[in-house]
Amino acid sequence: MTRVAFVTGGAGGIGQAICKRLADANFRVASSYIAAERETALKWQEASKGAGYDYVLVEGDVSNFESSAAIVREVEQQLGPIEVLVNCAGITRDGTFRKMTEDQWKAVIGVNLNGVFNVTRQVINGMIDRGYGRIVNISSMNGQKGQFGQSNYSASKAGIHGFTMSLAQEVASKGITVNSVSPGYIGTSMVMAIAEEIRNKIVAQIPVGRMGTPEEVGAVVVFLAGEDAGYITGANITMNGGQHMQF
Ligand code: NAD
Repeated sequence: MTRVAFVTGGAGGIGQAICKRLADANFRVASSYIAAERETALKWQEASKGAGYDYVLVEGDVSNFESSAAIVREVEQQLGPIEVLVNCAGITRDGTFRKMTEDQWKAVIGVNLNGVFNVTRQVINGMIDRGYGRIVNISSMNGQKGQFGQSNYSASKAGIHGFTMSLAQEVASKGITVNSVSPGYIGTSMVMAIAEEIRNKIVAQIPVGRMGTPEEVGAVVVFLAGEDAGYITGANITMNGGQHMQF
């Protein structure tokens, strides 16, 4: 049986690798993107098709509850019930707090945290009714340790952990697991576009001696999305090359 997996923000740097890994693991994969990134998303869909990956791709805004409902309806019409949800859509609007605008704050909380509520809320009752589900929320190392200039982003990503642990408790007896993954620096094209000198300074702080790859994030997500991970719930998997260790 091939299960249906839906990845929000799947056309992004990390999302693309998650989609590919899920498809390689025999999931039927759907993804969503925000209208402003339509061109990039459609190009990715086309290129993926050429490489043998046929993703369902839906446009919508996860920071909007109605739009999230429409996205999920569309995915389920095309592929059937969503059994795996990966909340990956995320944005940054960095700035020191003393200069942070209300717009910067609300935009980041709206996508990164409200978006997780908006989309998960659409799929949770179906998962409960069917007695099976896997929810994986992409958080961040900066949600664990904080980061200068990212009070909005760190708050949104830390909020994901509270959400993950609470929902995990509510649905544990229904065959549904809820976990988060907290990557440190991942070498997406955006990060790799940072000047080499600055990247070298970042890497010097990472014990493993390099940035992570989107594929490595994808591998962790696929593991959590699988049936073998049924005893892992309410967990946060850190993957940061040893930059921030916690237990
Ligand atoms: P990215 O910008 O490449 O991708 C983000 C995706 O989110 C895009 O596909 C975009 O269309 C989508 N998106 C943005 N706003 C949206 C909205 N309102 N509604 C629907 N979709 C929306 O970013 P990325 O680097 O691939 O990051 C993916 C996730 O991983 C994010 O949650 C990010 O916070 C997290 N993360 C990234 C890193 C890193 O080093 N790149 C590290 C830790 C965590």
